[in-house]
Amino acid sequence: MSFEALGLHANLIRALTDSGYTKPTPVQEQAVPAAINGRDLMVSSQTGSGKTAAFMLPALHKLISADVVTYDNSKTPNQERQSARSRGDRPRFVAAKPKMLVLTPTRELALQVTTATDKYSAYSRRIKAVSILGGMPYPKQMQLLSRNPEILVATPGRLIDHMDSGKIDFSELQMLVLDEADRMLDMGFIDDIEKIVAATPATRQTMLFSATLDGVVGNMAKRITTDPMVIQIAGSASKHENIQQKVHFVDDLSHKNRMLDHLLRDESMDQAVVFTATKRDADTIADRLNIAGFAAAALHGDMHQGARNRTLDGLRRGQIRVLVATDVAARGIDVPGITHVFNYDLPKFPEDYVHRIGRTGRAGRKGLAVSLVNHAEGMHVKRIERFTKQLIPVDIIEGFEPKKTASAPRSAARKPGGWKPGDNRKSGGGGFSNSKPGQRSFSKPAGAGTGAAPRKEGSGGYKGNRSSEGSARRSFGDY
Ligand code: AMP
Repeated sequence: MSFEALGLHANLIRALTDSGYTKPTPVQEQAVPAAINGRDLMVSSQTGSGKTAAFMLPALHKLISADVVTYDNSKTPNQERQSARSRGDRPRFVAAKPKMLVLTPTRELALQVTTATDKYSAYSRRIKAVSILGGMPYPKQMQLLSRNPEILVATPGRLIDHMDSGKIDFSELQMLVLDEADRMLDMGFIDDIEKIVAATPATRQTMLFSATLDGVVGNMAKRITTDPMVIQIAGSASKHENIQQKVHFVDDLSHKNRMLDHLLRDESMDQAVVFTATKRDADTIADRLNIAGFAAAALHGDMHQGARNRTLDGLRRGQIRVLVATDVAARGIDVPGITHVFNYDLPKFPEDYVHRIGRTGRAGRKGLAVSLVNHAEGMHVKRIERFTKQLIPVDIIEGFEPKKTASAPRSAARKPGGWKPGDNRKSGGGGFSNSKPGQRSFSKPAGAGTGAAPRKEGSGGYKGNRSSEGSARRSFGDY
C-alpha cells in the first residue's frame, strides 16, 4: 500500500517523500482513508506506531482540498483589528476560530505534534498550526492566536483558560483529535475534556487515539464519537518487539549507581534516557553523571518551558547523550538516536513502562530497555509483565553480580510457553522469568564508580514515600 493509494493530496505526498516515509504504517493504512471520508475514529495504538500522521494527514488533506470550509474571504483577527482601527473604532480582540483541535496530555507531545504538522504541511503554506501550552508566555500565545491558525494543538488546562476568556471560538471547528486519551484521563483531565468537547459543534469529526480502549477511556470514546470506526493495532510497534528488555537486580543504591555508570559506557549506545521516580532524583543523577563525564541533562515538570525546550533541542541535536527524566516530562519524546532506556526507578504504573521503553526503537529501529530493580520490587516487575504479556529476562553482568539473585533464580518457577494469565499470581518466591543466569550482554569491563553517597534504597524505589512525579502530576499537574 502506498501513500498515493490512500488518496492523499500531492502536496502531502511530496512532504512525506522528503521526510523519508516510503509507505504507510498499519494504523495509517486504516485510519487515513476512513478519516478522509469523514468517519469518527476510535484507535488503540501505541506511540511509535505512526499515529500522529494517522490523524494529521487526513486532516491536512481535508484542509488543503478545502473539503473543510475555508475562510479566505474572512479577515484574520489581526486584519479585523486593523480595519477596526482604520474605522476609528477601538481595536478589540477577535477570537481565533480553528478548524481542527488536537488535545494532548503534555506540552512535549503537543510541540511534537505541531512540529510533525509543519513537516507534513511544508508544501501547503496556507495551513498554520500552533501549540497552546501551559508554561508559554501569555503574550506569545495571544500573538499565535491572532494569526487565526487552522490547527490548534493544546494541552487541556491552558486551552480552558483561553476559552474562558473568550480568546478561542470553536463554532467553526470541524475536527477534534484526542491524542493519548488514556493518559489525559490518568492525569485527571476528564472534566476539562468534557468541557472542551461540549464547546465544539456536534457536527465535528472526532478521532480518539489511546493505548487502550478499555474501561473509562473506552466509555468516554463512545460518548464523544458518532458511529466510530474502531481500529485496534496490535502490531510489533505496540508490543515493542524491536526493543530488547532486561532486568538487572541490584543490592542497594551504590550497586545501582555503579551499574548504571557501567551500562552507560556500552559502546553500542548512542543516546539514552534514564527514568527516575522523582524530579529531585532526575536533577541529582544528571549532575552526578555530568561529573562522571557523560553529557547528561535532566528533564522534569518543575523546569520552565524554555529550559525544557532547550534540553529537548540538545537531545535532538545529539549534544545531550543521557537524558535523566521523569515520566510526564519524557512522554512523547521522539528522538531516533535514543538506543537505550534505563529504568533507574520502576514506573508507578505498568502503562508508563510501555511508554518509557517506547522512547527507544523509534520508527522501526532496534532498542534496549534495562530496568534496575531491587529485590523487593519483584512484584512490580510481575505487574509489568502481566500488563505487557511479555516476560522480561533477568540478566547478570560480570563484575556486577547481585548478592541475592543466585539464591532465588526467577527461571526456577518459569513454565515454558510464555506468559499466561494467572502465571504470576501465586508464585511465592522470586521465580518469575526465563532468565539465563550468567548471560552477559555488556562486554566492557566495569566502569569506574562515581562515588555517589549511598542512600537508603527503600527511599528511592517504587515504594518510596517521597512525592513521585506520578502522584505529583495530579496535584501540581504538568501545567
Ligand atoms: P508516532 O507514533 O506518531 O509518535 O510516530 C513515530 C515515529 O514514526 C515518528 O518519528 C514519525 O516521524 C515516524 N513515522 C510515522 N509514520 C511513518 C511512516 N509511514 N514511515 C516512516 N516513519 C514514520
